[in-house]
Amino acid sequence: MFSGPPVHLMWSSMYNPEKQKLKGHVEWRRIWALFMPYWKMQLGVFGLILFGSVLGLTPAILTLSMIDKAIPAHNFRLLITDVVLMVVASLAASLAGVYQGYLNSQVGEGIIRDLHTSLVSHLHKMPLEFFTATKTGEIMNRVSNDVESVDNVITMTMVSIITNILTIVTTLIAIFAIDWRLSIVSIVVVPVMVLPLWPVGRKMYDARKKTRAKRDQMQAATQETLSVSGIVLVKSFVRESSEKKRFYNLATELMALEINVAMVGRWFLMAITSMVTIGPAVIWLVGGWLAIYDGVTVGVLVSFVALLSRLYTPVSALAGVQVQIVSALAVFERIFDYLDMKEERDPPGATVIEKVEGKVTFDDVTFRYPNGKTVVEHLSFTIEPGSMVAFVGPSGAGKTTITNLVPRLYDAQEGRILIDDYDVKAVTLASLREQIGIVSQETYLFHDTIDANLRYAREGATEEQIIEACKAANIHDVIMAMSEGYDTVVGERGHKLSGGERQRLAIARVLLKNPRILILDEATSSLDTENESLIQAALVPLMQGRTSLVVAHRLSTIIAADRIFVVEQGRVIESGTHKDLLAADGLYTRLYQAH
Ligand code: ADP
Repeated sequence: MFSGPPVHLMWSSMYNPEKQKLKGHVEWRRIWALFMPYWKMQLGVFGLILFGSVLGLTPAILTLSMIDKAIPAHNFRLLITDVVLMVVASLAASLAGVYQGYLNSQVGEGIIRDLHTSLVSHLHKMPLEFFTATKTGEIMNRVSNDVESVDNVITMTMVSIITNILTIVTTLIAIFAIDWRLSIVSIVVVPVMVLPLWPVGRKMYDARKKTRAKRDQMQAATQETLSVSGIVLVKSFVRESSEKKRFYNLATELMALEINVAMVGRWFLMAITSMVTIGPAVIWLVGGWLAIYDGVTVGVLVSFVALLSRLYTPVSALAGVQVQIVSALAVFERIFDYLDMKEERDPPGATVIEKVEGKVTFDDVTFRYPNGKTVVEHLSFTIEPGSMVAFVGPSGAGKTTITNLVPRLYDAQEGRILIDDYDVKAVTLASLREQIGIVSQETYLFHDTIDANLRYAREGATEEQIIEACKAANIHDVIMAMSEGYDTVVGERGHKLSGGERQRLAIARVLLKNPRILILDEATSSLDTENESLIQAALVPLMQGRTSLVVAHRLSTIIAADRIFVVEQGRVIESGTHKDLLAADGLYTRLYQAH
């Protein structure tokens, strides 16, 4: 199941061929743009860090004053001043640190909120085919884990870069003020320390990227088996142990990758720590020589070496930050990948349709699924406003697909689909979908109250309207018999309701929406006769005065249809009333007899 290229890669390459070129290159401007709304706070963080770095210099400078001035001159007052200043400076620096942390969280959490929102709302606008081609678990992983790890980048990496740079700059100024010869020596050592570390970044980036992809797979596997339908499948086929094995294998692969990431980090740390010892050793050598032969004071030497750690630690940390940035880029890349996918958009100058008569016309329509399979071919028909058309035909003939083209859940590649005289591709998606109500085979209900599920169709509906719709859909009495009535919470996918009840609730939902055009995909599973007749009765008000496209499985619906379209391999091969078609003695007659 998990072999072959990851589905999301297939999908994104299908939609965004030029994207492949960008691999490994994140546009800095986009990351920068995320920070822009928070620039004032970011500036505050910057100011506080600068404040802290300057204060951080004071201990070394005060040491110089104590060793070279106060102590030799027996100046106790100067000694006290130096000591008090030392304490005050460190207190002030800590206070600044607290406030800086606060501002920094504001920036980090703010950016997370913005990214989360734009990612989720972008996903809502993605076409249906994205969701049929991508595993839910993978989408969840990007929306939650990836976005959250951006916080790390912002609150830790950003601050550590700024802090380190400012510490280096302030320290450089201080050491040059103390002794320029020693300063030059200490700078010369830096490239020797840093250069060997560059390639580590790339390794780390690759390792992290692989880890993330594996996590996607894990999440998808978990999600698939832990959903209600998934778990029923697992249990009914007694697949627990093989699922365990599959999960164990994935987890083992992830483990190996994580160990790899950790080890790249280890080698890297070891390299840094051994480098950091070289610098001070050189300074003791040269500085000691200068102290012996050239009159450099002990105070200068001691304070200089104290300052050196303020130079080398940030330099080596910056080399480490490079690793962090590079792997953080992998996260941004994954988020931007999703944000870059083409969403459903209204064409320029799209018309907003208000009230339509409800005529539906297919004009030489051809449709292929993204996998290249042609399912609808040169299809033409007209459905008169207010009439009911039943699509019948063998399973897989393309009936559902045809109906999905009307609300543009999928887009036909050739031909035109018209509602009244509006081309569906020339009107806004929102106004198009406002006109259409869909009752699909699989009724989806949110894990919420019945009332909330119904209001999803019309937010401002009054209680009377809701009850009226439920009465018409033959579900009111069932709801009233529940202990909490309309406030009863229905489980994910409405699992506390029977199939027939769910369908009637779905019918009530569409009645509330009150669209001009109705698409009804009748459930193939047959219900008991009582439920059957309840639904049949509910369908009457549902279809009343609307243009209805019904993927029909019930004989009663088919016979009641104004016209029947017999579909085979994406074409309407026969059409007419039940009587006409029986008289014609074609596919319909054979289907009817088989029924
Ligand atoms: P019907 O409703 O008549 O049973 P469908 O419209 O559901 O038929 O499917 C028609 C054909 O399109 C089937 O062969 C099916 O395998 C294929 N199909 C359906 N959905 C997709 C999809 N998302 N991607 C690729 N092929 C699909």
